[in-house]
Amino acid sequence: MHDTHETVLEINLGALEHNYRFLRSKIDPSTKFMGVVKATGYGSNPLVIARKLESLKIDALAVAYASEGIHLRKGGIKCPILVLHPQEANFEGIIAHCLEPNLYSPKILKTFHKVAGEASQKDYPVHLKFNTGLNRLGFWENDVKHIKEELGNSGVLKIKGILSHLGASEDMSEKEFTEGQIKAFESIVAEAEQALGPIPLKHLLNTSGILNYPNAQWSMVRSGIGLYGYGNDPKYDSALRPVASLKTIISQLHRIEPGETVGYNRAFRADGFRTTATLPLGHADGIGRQYGNGKASVLIHGKRAPIIGNVCMDMLMVDVTGIDCKEGDEVILFGEGQSAEQFASFAGTISYELLTGISPRIKRLYRES
Ligand SMILES: *Cc1c(COP(=O)(O)O)cnc(C)c1O
Repeated sequence: MHDTHETVLEINLGALEHNYRFLRSKIDPSTKFMGVVKATGYGSNPLVIARKLESLKIDALAVAYASEGIHLRKGGIKCPILVLHPQEANFEGIIAHCLEPNLYSPKILKTFHKVAGEASQKDYPVHLKFNTGLNRLGFWENDVKHIKEELGNSGVLKIKGILSHLGASEDMSEKEFTEGQIKAFESIVAEAEQALGPIPLKHLLNTSGILNYPNAQWSMVRSGIGLYGYGNDPKYDSALRPVASLKTIISQLHRIEPGETVGYNRAFRADGFRTTATLPLGHADGIGRQYGNGKASVLIHGKRAPIIGNVCMDMLMVDVTGIDCKEGDEVILFGEGQSAEQFASFAGTISYELLTGISPRIKRLYRES
């Protein structure tokens, strides 16, 4: 533990290691594991997370955009990096930094093939993404023929992987839909391998896929949220450990008299004598207004203090009436005692959104256990 003298996002790399080992234990030792570090490592620090995962001998990493992959390469990350959402404007950068594009449409395949050819590439590794029901990005099954025609025998590109993405792997009431996606992927893999030859990596599962449909692990899985400590289910959350904890301190205490109001637009009105604490973080830090007006609460010495009134840009106020606390005391928004999933649920959102929205202005602090 350390004394928090300002707002910090504490990143526990020991927890990351624990989560990695836990998720790995759910799949065969021979199945490869891709760690997803997009969106600044789910709001933490992508380079610190990538270095730790590389030290644990992770097989590959994934990012959403090329710029994120280039950042990792510049930071010395050597393992294969898949770019989930490559864009034409970044193809040269992708090739210059040995990133592997996830090609998802005839148009993007054609352009990447051309750019790689002009850069005199041979056997440049790419992955092909097929749509199996999420209807977000991906080739359709009947694109296999076009893919074969486009590749011809130029030898410029090598199909290293084939993938799809599940749309509801965390939702067991959608089991039938997910099983349909798994079946569709099986049929696409068979067709693609028949047309294009053996494809080394086949990957479908995200974190909830690993936990709920391990039989569909194929030769690699892609996990993001699980590495950061959340499994989209209380039963898995308890086996995982949160990597990020958001902590702050009490900047100032106020004694409020009955009838007084707190904050902008006088949104909180005291019905009696109240003690309030002002905290140094606000909606500019990723704690949006939807958490205000009693929706969410923070922990002070293990006791719940509701956020009152409107969340300000750089501050928010909590009601600490009856809690023995003083200026400078530690406040936990999420981490030990209250998970990010719990905190997010106060505002009707999910851990993914809360974690990835914590502003870069908040200092990151690292610990190993
Ligand atoms: C973000 C993402 C993942 C990781 O999902 P989690 O639910 O965080 O494990 C895997 N695959 C794709 C295509 C993604 O976009």
